[in-house]
Amino acid sequence: MHDPNCIFCKIVAGEIPCRKAHEDGEVLAFHDIRPLAPVHVLVVPKKHISTMYDAAPGDEALLGHMLALAPSIAKSLGAGDGFRLIMNTGRVGRQEVQHIHLHVIGGPDPLGPMLPRKES
Ligand code: AMP
Ligand code: ZN
Repeated sequence: MHDPNCIFCKIVAGEIPCRKAHEDGEVLAFHDIRPLAPVHVLVVPKKHISTMYDAAPGDEALLGHMLALAPSIAKSLGAGDGFRLIMNTGRVGRQEVQHIHLHVIGGPDPLGPMLPRKES
């Protein structure tokens, strides 16, 4: 449930401070410390799940809850005209923090391309 070596578990436990955007019984959402856009929030489950590979069928409601929160969080922070959701996973996805988190990224202006296209 709580991994003592996990930075996001420590944030959930209040051992490391964060700038909170939303909290309920299941999830905490807080501002990314190195924002990539005017709105950049991470939605994390309070329960420790290392990667999406580790999510079990019983976690479906929790994952759905994380997704369903994104529009209201985005809107409440001024991203009312669109946003992007990203969940980096594993080595290929370049996941840096091993506790799943949904990036909610937006702002008043359109974002850059999803991924740079490789020139052929
Ligand atoms: P990812 O590459 O998807 O694992 O992203 C991890 C994200 O966590 C990065 O965008 C970091 O800026 C962010 N991050 C790391 N430590 C903290 C922290 N203490 N508070 C807020 N955001 C953090
Ligand atoms: Zn954790």
